[in-house]
Amino acid sequence: MDVAENLTHIKARIQKAEKEYSRAPNSVRLLAVSKTHPVELIREAYHAGQRLFGENYLQEVMEKQIALQDYDIEWHFIGSIQSNKTKLIAEYFDWAHSVNRFKTAKRLSEQRTSQRSPLNICIEVNINYEATKSGVQPEKLLPLLEEISALDNLRVRGLMVIPEHKDQFDEQKRIFDNVAALQQSLIEAGFDLDTLSMGMTQDFEAAIAAGSTIVRLGTAIFGVRDS
Ligand SMILES: *Cc1c(COP(=O)(O)O)cnc(C)c1O
Repeated sequence: MDVAENLTHIKARIQKAEKEYSRAPNSVRLLAVSKTHPVELIREAYHAGQRLFGENYLQEVMEKQIALQDYDIEWHFIGSIQSNKTKLIAEYFDWAHSVNRFKTAKRLSEQRTSQRSPLNICIEVNINYEATKSGVQPEKLLPLLEEISALDNLRVRGLMVIPEHKDQFDEQKRIFDNVAALQQSLIEAGFDLDTLSMGMTQDFEAAIAAGSTIVRLGTAIFGVRDS
């Protein structure tokens, strides 16, 4: 597994997609999802120029952050946020992508020390009302955003989605288009949002076509995870 080579390849695909779908150059940021992979591979990615890393499991990421404390990494928490985890997330991350309840948002804000810049957050949306998925139902977003925006130490950046799996580009894009439209309606309602966190290894080009600004890629960079 040559991480540097994978990154070069993936960045070329992102650039190509930006061009193909009339997106501004460098409007899509690459989040390297390093969960379950060893610190060594994060170092390899870092030395190849990667700075944004995403992790899901707190216990794992705490050890990694200690090993990488001299590295200038922007850490993104992308796992599900339980109430008893908010303190560590507020303390050790720059971003949290999967906020989906007021209660956890409030805790994150209270636990973020006010000397630091606000914690950047995305609200996870359950765009297709999947029973097995977490995330906020579309019509509940506006009231939730109104509540969360009043919190001091958070900055709401936009929406995040983990859609149901689709094989076809057009099917993938249709879902991402719906998320982008939802984000647009929130912007029109007065919210200052600049981030759409959507697109993984299987569907990131469709996400870019629909307006994604952060793609979260694991497998494409680090290979298949053992599970
Ligand atoms: C694991 C994970 C990813 C990366 O998925 P790949 O298919 O390996 O690219 C992206 N987003 C979230 C929320 C994840 O949990």
